[in-house]
Amino acid sequence: MTGLLTDLTTLTRTLGDPARDYVIIGEGNTSARIDADTFYIKASGQGMQHITEAGFVAVQFAPALALLEEPALPLAEQKRRLNAAKVDPAVTLQPSVEVTFHALLLTECGVPFIGHTHPVYVNQLLCSSRAQQFAAHRLFPDECVLCGPESVFVPYCDPGLPLAVALRDKVRAYLDVYGEAPKVILLQNHGLIVPGTTPTEVLNVTAMCVKAARIFAGACAVGEPVFMTREDIHHIYQRPDEIYRRQQFVQR
Ligand SMILES: [Zn+2]
Repeated sequence: MTGLLTDLTTLTRTLGDPARDYVIIGEGNTSARIDADTFYIKASGQGMQHITEAGFVAVQFAPALALLEEPALPLAEQKRRLNAAKVDPAVTLQPSVEVTFHALLLTECGVPFIGHTHPVYVNQLLCSSRAQQFAAHRLFPDECVLCGPESVFVPYCDPGLPLAVALRDKVRAYLDVYGEAPKVILLQNHGLIVPGTTPTEVLNVTAMCVKAARIFAGACAVGEPVFMTREDIHHIYQRPDEIYRRQQFVQR
């Protein structure tokens, strides 16, 4: 268990490195599955840059997921239930306000790590009329390899439970089409979520999505972006040598 928390701490600090410009102050959050019943999540108010292992809270999946299955409760009752979901009630830290979407994505995507950030280059697109276009298209082969054939796009939602409910529907729709979890989830007017099989995958996909956002913005500045065709995207994504490369990119 110590190894997992060390990995999550390192991932979080790396995503929070100011040189990457993915988050500032208390923005963003991360999580990691402990076992079938519990996961770690960044505590509310913790900055990613300097976080330590003490900055995470262990939470039970079942009470967090149960909130998604019933009519929305008043915010105070949601907070009480999520606080009661902590594995150790004596811990005074509160789980991040986004604990429900972490519980949902760790479950629906079947991955052990989630990284959520607000990168400037991605958010400048997500706060523009081009947001959905950026999510739906691919510009270059390595974007397909790392970020998948398209990104899940979620229209703006109030953070917390409403966002988690919207995410559930969008991720399930993606799973129905592609038969696998999305590599990139884009939240309109908000930020980026990357589910990963390893911390390295979360870091690499985040970095590639940021690069794609920079190229997209540059392409829009000099003219209209020229997108890859769906045929070319699927060809690249399924090529055996590219699958091999993708596997190398996600290893620890
Ligand atoms: Zn956020």
